[in-house]
Amino acid sequence: MCAAFSHIYLEARAENYSETKSILARFPESTVIRIKHYKDVFNRPAQDAALQNRSKNLILAVNDGKKIFDASPVCQDFGMGKFYYAESAMNCVFSCDYCFLKGMYGTSNVVIFVNQEDYLYECEEKLKDGPMYLCASFDTDLGALSKVSSWMNKWEEFASSHSDLTLELRTKSVVDSFKKDSNIIYAFTLSPDEVISRFEKMTPSLDARIACVNQAIAKGAQVRLCFDPLIYIKNFELCYNEFVGKILQSIDLSCVRDISIGTFRISSDYLPNLRKACPDSSAVLFPFDREDGFCVYPAKLRERLIGIIKNELEKAGYGNKLYIIP
Ligand code: SF4
Repeated sequence: MCAAFSHIYLEARAENYSETKSILARFPESTVIRIKHYKDVFNRPAQDAALQNRSKNLILAVNDGKKIFDASPVCQDFGMGKFYYAESAMNCVFSCDYCFLKGMYGTSNVVIFVNQEDYLYECEEKLKDGPMYLCASFDTDLGALSKVSSWMNKWEEFASSHSDLTLELRTKSVVDSFKKDSNIIYAFTLSPDEVISRFEKMTPSLDARIACVNQAIAKGAQVRLCFDPLIYIKNFELCYNEFVGKILQSIDLSCVRDISIGTFRISSDYLPNLRKACPDSSAVLFPFDREDGFCVYPAKLRERLIGIIKNELEKAGYGNKLYIIP
């Protein structure tokens, strides 16, 4: 998918980076507006994120602050120890109703940080303290941006030459090239078609995602499947049962590295903004329980949702591949 941006905001200091030049060359029709600092546009108060969502603009910027962060405790660390995420970009060209980014940022515009070498340097410095696990596609979907930005390739190349880095590239997108390195994990989020069409706006269908997973497997890449977040809908039992049946029929799970399962959860601080951004979406209007600063489904519902996927995968002999966020 290649998003079209009617306007591209360009920080003066970002102008001479090669990433900037190649992005601008891809969008000759876009109106380029020069700005002093990305925060003047991205953090502008009282933006209408729902309206912007219909036509997102792009901001090209230099990140002169921290670039790699400790991951949140509600993220699955897959037993990997030192767990970080990189803020290579902010916001996403897709538009899932339940996305925490909608709660975190008051805008739908997308920032791409173009000073890539600074990120790789910060990562190299952190690696001096020992092996690390890095989610590079975290505050965005780098796969969905791969026709816009070279970030995904950049991280892949860096991981190829740094075996002590385990890199996760999570996506709902259909990407078309994969590396076989054992330390590069392509993590595909899969959802039932009903959930995709109702709540995962602009993302590829389940069939397209499954085809992409199978292509990655055929290329010998490390593949992770993410059934996360599971979303409550009225007919969730039937829907998720059919879904897991389809996954078992269409993907050879013996070729998959591991599988994560988790239900929707979000920081309590982000829920009000999320509801403002998607005022009609049942995915965010649910009367959530609050636990340790997070909004979550009631424990019994979480168990039932997770149980549907977990039980079927265990019956099929893949219990040893499961990582579950209870
Ligand atoms: S694909 Fe991921 S990052 Fe993008 S909108 Fe959906 S949940 Fe958010």
